[in-house]
Amino acid sequence: MATGKINVSVENIFPLIKKFLYSDHEIFLRELISNATDATLKLKHLTSIGEAKVEYGNPIIEVKVDKDKKRIHILDQGVGMTEDEVKKYINEVAFSGAEEFLDKYKDAGKDTGIIGHFGLGFYSAFMVAEKVEIITKSFKDEPAVHWVCDGSPEFTLEEAKKKDRGTEIILHIAEDSTEFLEDAKIRELLTKYNKFMPIPIKFGTRTETLPKPEGAKEDEPAPTEEVDDIINNPAPAWTKQPTDLKDEDYKNFYRGLYPMQFEEPLFHIHLNVDYPFNLTGILYFPKLTNDLNIQKDRIQLYQNQVFVTDNVEGIVPEFLTMLRGVIDSPDIPLNVSRSYLQADGAVKKISSYITRKVADKLSSLFKNNREDFEQKWNDIKIVIEYGMLSEEKFFEKADKFALYPTVDGTFYTFEELEAKIKDNQTDKDNKLVVLYASDMEAQHSYIEAAKAKGYEILLMDSPIVSHLMQKLEGSKENLSFVRVDADHIDNLVKKEDTAISKLSDEEKDRLKENLEKVISADKGYTIQLEAMDSNASPFIITEPEFMRRMKEMQRTGGGGIFGMGNMPDMYNLIVNTNHELVSEILNTKTDKKRERLINQSLDLARLSKGLLKGEELTKFISRSYDMIK
Ligand code: ADP
Ligand code: MG
Repeated sequence: MATGKINVSVENIFPLIKKFLYSDHEIFLRELISNATDATLKLKHLTSIGEAKVEYGNPIIEVKVDKDKKRIHILDQGVGMTEDEVKKYINEVAFSGAEEFLDKYKDAGKDTGIIGHFGLGFYSAFMVAEKVEIITKSFKDEPAVHWVCDGSPEFTLEEAKKKDRGTEIILHIAEDSTEFLEDAKIRELLTKYNKFMPIPIKFGTRTETLPKPEGAKEDEPAPTEEVDDIINNPAPAWTKQPTDLKDEDYKNFYRGLYPMQFEEPLFHIHLNVDYPFNLTGILYFPKLTNDLNIQKDRIQLYQNQVFVTDNVEGIVPEFLTMLRGVIDSPDIPLNVSRSYLQADGAVKKISSYITRKVADKLSSLFKNNREDFEQKWNDIKIVIEYGMLSEEKFFEKADKFALYPTVDGTFYTFEELEAKIKDNQTDKDNKLVVLYASDMEAQHSYIEAAKAKGYEILLMDSPIVSHLMQKLEGSKENLSFVRVDADHIDNLVKKEDTAISKLSDEEKDRLKENLEKVISADKGYTIQLEAMDSNASPFIITEPEFMRRMKEMQRTGGGGIFGMGNMPDMYNLIVNTNHELVSEILNTKTDKKRERLINQSLDLARLSKGLLKGEELTKFISRSYDMIK
């Protein structure tokens, strides 16, 4: 038997490994199964090129838990290792990897997030084991060897009896890691990290019900059989060619990926590129409305079919993190911090590739089936609008297929909308005025007034829409978005002034004085006299677009003008000097009646803007009853 000391400068590396990797101890299993997979794939390659003259067969990897002896076994039928290879790959290579790792990260705090994703490899076994054994037999004609290391740099190495090719790793689980001796825990880890690995992984057996033999009696139980429980799907959809997959295959894969998700995805995008970087994957657009699982079911990142993380921040543009699915790339550096990732050239290319693919897919859906695209619009708009705001390249493409629905349910692209409203909604300064509502119920009277003028009114109700309008106004010339209640109807799209006022200047002054006497300044209305159509409402409350939008933008994050979010809302009270009721206010004999007319009119205007509430609403109602008595 040979004994030896692993050649490292750190005196006792294992306690350090434990300490540094405290949060992600569970990755040991992923690492060991990755090694077993590599060893099997190496053998596959060597047999295929004739370098290994053995039968490849149908190798599997097996994981066994021996709770009584406190051991976990991981067995493979791969290339195995000769004595020299153990010395080289385990004692030198693997260990130097571990040492390098510790060197690099010994000052890293515990919250850097980098540690868990660093492939520490074989030595991560010591995060959970106090002793590790390797029994391995190479495919080459050499005796098997047995390596044992108890968590100090000393090891023993001797010949073993193992006859069949492959490697068995035995972990003697430490006192503080006995949770890993639970079947359920191991099963959980296997499904988390190894669900799509390329070599079948067996964990125990399960009972399969067989079809009843012909002529079996009714009450005879169906025969059963114990079969290997293979926990993984070695050939997941994303590793196949799109041409080999049907829509149903993509849906099945989605279901397997998110078993708790009962809603079908709207559509998918198959990613497949091998130059200048390597990336495969499938992204799904889920229905995003009222979705509470948005945080839980996220895009999963794999590296050669090994699960790495479901935090793809920095790799996928932020607006696409709302999607679901899988990305698999060996070219994404995993051993670095997130902020570094964003600056990495390869990652930047990956990110813009994904953005382009998503834009192209949306564009083809729009072109090939407009009706279907319109139907899906409400479920996908948030991603598209967010993308238009945050990625210029995406904006350029999306500008051609982004839809703007009207309150009547027609969907226009921006170009179509422009053509449609150009004649009627260009103001005297040659600006195209796009009218919109954000709430069809609350803004009903304003919408009706605008419709009567033949205007088109968009329904813009997503949470970031104020930012989007700001962006559109900035990137297109002579365009302004105006909410239907931003001004009185004649001012929404300002044409040349042709209004003739029934009132003389002296009468206007007197009216203003009367109004100001009753409507005290502290109510916060700016009173504005306007000569409007005599059929338009006498009192109208409006909310100027600019201030309202700035405040809204600040509330929904970023943009706007700092400090505006908390300012009180600002309203204008428009009084239509051509309305009969306004003449009556002016000509009424008694102050008391005038006051009553003004208050009642103001309250009606507030009511139609949804501003009359609480005590004032109660008073208004009882006053109204008195009036009709
Ligand atoms: P890495 O997998 O990144 O090379 P590891 O520390 O995980 O680093 O493993 C070190 C080396 O040990 C591997 O490259 C391989 O040569 C050898 N090895 C580990 N596990 C096995 C195994 N199950 N079968 C054959 N060789 C193995
Ligand atoms: Mg490894």
